[in-house]
Amino acid sequence: MITLVADSTALNLSSLCGQKYFYEQVLSLVSARLTPVKTVTETEGGAYLNKGDLLHTFLRIYYKLRKRDVPFNTCRELALEYGRTYAITLHDVPIHVCEHIARQFSAYCEFYRHENWKIVEVEHYFAKELYRDDEIRIIYEGIIDLFVEAEGIQGAVPVDHKSSKRRQAFTNMGNQFKGYCWASGANRCFVNKVGFQKTLAPKERFQREPKHFSRAILDEWKSHAVYHLKELAWRLSEDVWPMDETSCDKFGGCSYRQICETPPSGRGFRIFRDYSIRIPWNPAEAADDHKREEDWLDNKLV
Ligand code: SF4
Repeated sequence: MITLVADSTALNLSSLCGQKYFYEQVLSLVSARLTPVKTVTETEGGAYLNKGDLLHTFLRIYYKLRKRDVPFNTCRELALEYGRTYAITLHDVPIHVCEHIARQFSAYCEFYRHENWKIVEVEHYFAKELYRDDEIRIIYEGIIDLFVEAEGIQGAVPVDHKSSKRRQAFTNMGNQFKGYCWASGANRCFVNKVGFQKTLAPKERFQREPKHFSRAILDEWKSHAVYHLKELAWRLSEDVWPMDETSCDKFGGCSYRQICETPPSGRGFRIFRDYSIRIPWNPAEAADDHKREEDWLDNKLV
């Protein structure tokens, strides 16, 4: 029997382009053009990802402290201290951008100062069996930013933080939110939107969008996810990665286009010259980071 472990990113890619899955998930390639300092603007590539990461760090520490029932001001101040220390390591995000994010985070805390969310879990890792037969076992995994109990809602529900520079509505479609609800047994989740816009009032920058999913919708999602992931398992075992050329121009253009546009014999050189290897997420390292963070908080709170 083979076991396939997949998250929402792998599931998204499994139903899109085979080549893209191969470059992103098997080879872990990132375009070097998106990461070096010389290409960075406030909205580009690696810097954009790191901005979201920095905001997540502020929010993670803040909610870890809220979970411990620490007073509001201490939660905010310690989260700012930890986040600013982390920001020093983000060489591709200029200091004024880091400070802008810190101010947005601080305003977010103020805006929700009296929120009624009871924090149950912060950055909750799950791995749940999606499917099993005699030949294959599929485990669906992920990390949910926050689990909360909210007034008028039965049980804990998942929350996903989304940062953005634009006003953005999220549809009910997509593997991430449905997958979180399926994995946690909840029939709803919240998208916690944190806007970086300088011109909008807090009530427009900070919004929480509820998503509801019936059991029938989640069952349908599950059966389609199993279909795509079984196909992915077959591609992995056969090492077959078909191109889907309808995906190349989606989402601002595929970052692997330079490879696919190069004749097959020259692709190795193209990868060597223009791409680097991203260090894949490692659950053991994540557990160490979590422990270090908890120790830091313990020391600060004595
Ligand atoms: S450029 Fe097109 S074919 Fe190549 S990986 Fe991207 S989506 Fe797939």
